[in-house]
Amino acid sequence: MNAQQQENLKKLPQVHRLLESKPAQELLAKHPKPLVAESVRQRLDALRAHVRNGMVGAFTFDESRFFTSVSGAMETAANRRLRWVINATGIVIHTNLGRVPLAPEAVEAIQEIALGYSSLEMDLENGRRGSRYAHVEPLICALTGAEAALVVNNNAAAVLLALDTFARGGEVIVSRGELIEIGGSFRLPEVIASSGAKLIEAGSTNKTRAADYENAISESTRLLMSAHPSNYRIVGFTETVCRAELVALGHDRTIPVLEDLGSGALVDLADLNAPHETMVQEAVAAGVGIVTFSGDKLLGGPQCGIIVGAREYIERMKKNPMLRALRIDKLNLAALEATLILYRNHPDQPDRIPALRMLAASSMDVGVKARKLATMFQDVDAYTTDVINGESLAGGGSLPDNGLDTRLLAVSSTQHSANELSAALRANNPPIIARIADGQLLFDLRTVADEEIAEIADALRRIAS
Ligand SMILES: *Cc1c(COP(=O)(O)O)cnc(C)c1O
Repeated sequence: MNAQQQENLKKLPQVHRLLESKPAQELLAKHPKPLVAESVRQRLDALRAHVRNGMVGAFTFDESRFFTSVSGAMETAANRRLRWVINATGIVIHTNLGRVPLAPEAVEAIQEIALGYSSLEMDLENGRRGSRYAHVEPLICALTGAEAALVVNNNAAAVLLALDTFARGGEVIVSRGELIEIGGSFRLPEVIASSGAKLIEAGSTNKTRAADYENAISESTRLLMSAHPSNYRIVGFTETVCRAELVALGHDRTIPVLEDLGSGALVDLADLNAPHETMVQEAVAAGVGIVTFSGDKLLGGPQCGIIVGAREYIERMKKNPMLRALRIDKLNLAALEATLILYRNHPDQPDRIPALRMLAASSMDVGVKARKLATMFQDVDAYTTDVINGESLAGGGSLPDNGLDTRLLAVSSTQHSANELSAALRANNPPIIARIADGQLLFDLRTVADEEIAEIADALRRIAS
């Protein structure tokens, strides 16, 4: 350290002196003392490091600037990091943005159960201990046609529980074309390995027939498994085992069949003008013994995994001690029950489920919102806008081979590149996530609620000023 730096260091006040200053008193009126003291200490450390390493020349300590940065840092720390975000990507089931918004009825249920005590594990008829699983099982059975049902923390947990219950120490046969990885963390071969089962691959990458499963059966086979290739598809000469054949084989050799549907729709998406996706009812009706799917994909509910199937299998899973570690929490359970009630009470109004409403929106519907947004900031000279055709994705491994026709608002600015605009929108409060393609900023309003449109216009206005 040179003499100048030593001189500069001496100009830094001590923490206790700073805490007596007027700006500190203002902060102390709003925040607890230990928080203010800690924040002052951290800023001072940063300043000391700066003086020591970088600063050359004379330095003066500016108290007011110092406290502006302290209070800014305290504000950031006081804000939640997990925040509401506007999804203008058009990807309906967006895993990085929290999958899907819930129906207002589900949100009300969460609020009620979170604010007070609940009948989570009490049977109100006799006052005795009840089961958390009992609240939704009859609903799920009524909606899917299954004999029995169980819900867990997510679909990964559902698959793990099924594998652990039926295949631990034994073998599970899966088609080579279905050894999926989803979202980087769900890799079927690894899930099977961690359940203590041995994976036996059947068939080839592009073609697997029932005979391949049959040839792979041994004394140790405990489960025949099939998984929805959610986020990819194999094109060209392909063949997959049909569900009925696998069920017949399992029946013949008395080996349970597990089908991981991934998304698991409860309504026919074709009725909503979207591409058909396997419905849970179809798998149940075909006689699949164990069917698993997510609660927060096409079902449009909270994070959870749903297992439906034959009573004897579900009962065995309920007795697995591992269930305790995989169990669904009360808030998700409340939201799930409320969502399922919507399906039961309003079978002809799927648009009460936000995810289904967004999937069903036509490109014309989305185009109306795009033009509405465009007119809201058309007076800002820096921008030019254009409404163009495009595609939205269902996301979450649903409908991987079909985009949904949509209309996009393309925005360009004389002041900022598309990347700069996109970064500024992410820094907005609330953050706004748009798409970029061919150097253009694109808004797909399929996933933007009507109330959110003005927020986007306001943000663009602020960025241009
Ligand atoms: C999404 C998906 C999973 C994982 O489900 P989570 O609910 O995210 O745990 C498992 N299998 C398939 C086929 C999927 O599509």
